[in-house]
Amino acid sequence: MTVKNFDAIVIGGGITGLSVAYYLTGEGKKVLLIEKKGLGAGASGACDDMILLQSKKPGILLTLAMESLALYRKLEKDLPLEIDLENRGGMVFIETQEQLPLMENFVKEQQKLGLDVTILDKKDMRKRQPHVSKHVLASTYSPLDSQVNPLKVMQAFVVAAQAKGLIIKKGSGVSQIVFHNDYHWEVITEDKESFTAEFVINAAGAWAGSLAKLIDLDVPIRPKRGQIAVTEKIPALGDTNIWSADYIVMKLNPELAKGRKQILNDLGIGLAMSQTSEGNYFIGGTREFMGYDTSTNFLAIHLIIQEATRFFPILKNVHVIRTFAGLRPASDDGKPFIGPVPGRPGFYMAAGHEGDGIALAPITGRLIAAMVMKQTLSFDVAELSPARLVKAEKSKQVS
Ligand SMILES: Cc1cc2nc3c(=O)[nH]c(=O)nc-3n(C[C@H](O)[C@H](O)[C@H](O)COP(=O)(O)OP(=O)(O)OC[C@H]3O[C@@H](n4cnc5c(N)ncnc54)[C@H](O)[C@@H]3O)c2cc1C
Repeated sequence: MTVKNFDAIVIGGGITGLSVAYYLTGEGKKVLLIEKKGLGAGASGACDDMILLQSKKPGILLTLAMESLALYRKLEKDLPLEIDLENRGGMVFIETQEQLPLMENFVKEQQKLGLDVTILDKKDMRKRQPHVSKHVLASTYSPLDSQVNPLKVMQAFVVAAQAKGLIIKKGSGVSQIVFHNDYHWEVITEDKESFTAEFVINAAGAWAGSLAKLIDLDVPIRPKRGQIAVTEKIPALGDTNIWSADYIVMKLNPELAKGRKQILNDLGIGLAMSQTSEGNYFIGGTREFMGYDTSTNFLAIHLIIQEATRFFPILKNVHVIRTFAGLRPASDDGKPFIGPVPGRPGFYMAAGHEGDGIALAPITGRLIAAMVMKQTLSFDVAELSPARLVKAEKSKQVS
């Protein structure tokens, strides 16, 4: 067996791993990316397309999302292929008097961090969304919510990074990772190829936990399924993409959900509707812990469509042409792990982005490259450090 040497090995060929590979090759590193199946085989090939700022809790995730949008604007110019970056803005619909003060507070906190977002009254909301059901009271509005085509972003990262020497190995997953005391990692694939590098980056999405087990690290990342219905091409319903306040609750605080059918809460359903540049609407979605099952089912799709027609009765004759499900990599505290793992020199985590991985891909790649290159970061990302894994391991040993 011949052993090939690289500066860095990225494990996982989703949007996160490809972004890391792009930024590392941009720093002159010799990079190998290993993907078990095919590029985009995980969540990045079975998701929506939003760079959604409004769904981020005020704090580090909102800051990162705003930085990431700025990077997408730069990538649009720098990458060799089109990525369909669009800036249509977004609205979150508020249905009840109970939701109103909660959303007003949420918006105030986001404004404090510099996000351009406001509350629209019914009249102004209907100017932007004339077809929305009359029962909807108000909405939020941010002109900054944007979207890209994740498949095109991945393809563009590949072409740009390959031009800088990226090697991609597909079709065989990593099965063994060994640390050698001379500060080098050896990564062995299922087909028994062996590679070495000073840096290894775990970007294996919902599989990042099983990968970390190869180096005796417990990473609490679980697959959270999202089911989506895709409509035929139709004219835009309004100016912006759309979410319900229940979507925000289901994403950030599912324990606060009340006043609706229990089955909607059990499946984690909140309305999310974004229109592709071709005219199809992606209508979502669920948030379910179902292991690695990527099937869709009649019950969930039926409830999702019911939610969509409740907000937009005009959709009742529109055809659904496809359904699909993807696995969000969900960490137990809702935050991704980005950075070096203490006690495993050169081993980095770039995983656990749950429903934010498309939005956060550029900033994640940029941060990992900056950390590997020992560059000063422009903001503090200690909250996302895998150091919290090591603390958890220690407290487990004590108890
Ligand atoms: C329905 C749905 C809608 C979503 N909508 C949005 C949205 O609008 N905006 C947003 O920002 N985010 C959204 N997300 C979340 C986003 O899709 C994910 O956060 C993101 O795609 C995660 O990317 P990743 O590269 O980290 O993981 P993945 O794309 O899952 O990639 C991980 C890769 O690792 C590979 N792998 C696994 N094990 C091994 C191994 N042993 N060796 C080698 N390779 C391995 C897998 O095959 C896979 O290709 C959505 C997700 C879903 C499911």
